Amino acid sequence: MKHLLLAAALILAAPVSAETVFITADRMVDVLTGRMVDAPAIVVTEGRIVSVGRQGSVAVPEGAKRIDLAGLTLVPGFIDMHVHLTSDPKMQPMDALLKTDNYWVLVGAQNAGKMLATGITTVRNVGSSGFDDVAIKQAIEDGRLQGSRIVPATYALGATGGHCDETFFPPSFEAKSPGVADGVDALRAKVREVRKYGAEVIKVCATGGVFSRNTEPGQQQLREEELKAIADEAHMWGVKVAAHAHGASGIKAAIRAGIDTIEHASLIDDEGIKLAKERGAYLSMDIYNTDYTQSEGKKNGVLEDNLRKDREVADVQREGFRKANAAGVKMVFGTDAGVMPHELAVNQFGTMARYGMSPLQVLRAATSTAAEALGREKDVGAIAPGRYADIVAVAGDPLASVEPLMAAKVVVKGGEVVADRR
Ligand SMILES: [Zn+2]
Repeated sequence: MKHLLLAAALILAAPVSAETVFITADRMVDVLTGRMVDAPAIVVTEGRIVSVGRQGSVAVPEGAKRIDLAGLTLVPGFIDMHVHLTSDPKMQPMDALLKTDNYWVLVGAQNAGKMLATGITTVRNVGSSGFDDVAIKQAIEDGRLQGSRIVPATYALGATGGHCDETFFPPSFEAKSPGVADGVDALRAKVREVRKYGAEVIKVCATGGVFSRNTEPGQQQLREEELKAIADEAHMWGVKVAAHAHGASGIKAAIRAGIDTIEHASLIDDEGIKLAKERGAYLSMDIYNTDYTQSEGKKNGVLEDNLRKDREVADVQREGFRKANAAGVKMVFGTDAGVMPHELAVNQFGTMARYGMSPLQVLRAATSTAAEALGREKDVGAIAPGRYADIVAVAGDPLASVEPLMAAKVVVKGGEVVADRR
């Protein structure tokens, strides 16, 4: 019986298209050199780029399917380093409690499709329940549904009573997140456990946060030795670590512990900026979503205390972003989509530009630098041989303004058109 099931599963899994695709457009941004290339011609087989050249100098492979994006400029598909696919910011808290656990897999599946349609071809899902993000990733890879490529974290790790624990229920409910553990050994074991069931990045909550109860963003919640144990264990297994850290002490402890990406980094101080630069830590700062939370949060049932925390970090975080970027810290695009509707994530490009980034810096934060932070430079983050043919076609000049990036005309994933608004 087991073998029969296995055979059935193998037949159902859609193979990657073996066809050759020939993509042309007016122009292309090479994010690796920072240059605009005229009349690009891209050859794709089995979803990956084989060669990138100029029209006229590259022969059209025999039998190739052609995708002509005349009048448009190509940029690499975007990578959002901080999303929660299985969240719905518009659902009232009480309504959410009436849904069965598996309901959220379908919410996540739908959101992966919405994000892909805006040009976000890869997401790092930094926290979900029930290994939902692994299930959605598997279904997308098998061709059952359309969505962004997913790097799943599964359960976020954290301290008892901390931001990543269940903080909204009375003691009689005995609600505790499966990612919660206390002490060096217990946290090491959690790294092994979530990795065993599909985590490709470890997410840890180093400080309090905005949307939990009875936690403050500035409050450190894991000791530096606990953070170091998590980082060492994950790195031994070849997995990177993302630390949710708003407060200055938690940010610095996480960087000193060797954690790869610092999420939010809202209250980062000068010492933290210096440390991030020295150690090569990446900052993933979600500087757009406060606009949504402040205008829609009350209506969506967000507690006043959580709105208060969001207000308190909003401007400080944006100024910290400006400072860190000016200091030359490695910055990646991370939006916390899920706190706001997923289709709004690309709006953050505008905020990043307003707080000091050039359009090329914004583009790199969402492509080549993000791929580096994921350790997936061979797969995503540039229109270059060997990488997946994940490409966004935009109108106008994306090196002159970020506006075109927020209104993708055509989205190509693995050499296949998945959204077309021409
Ligand atoms: Zn988050």
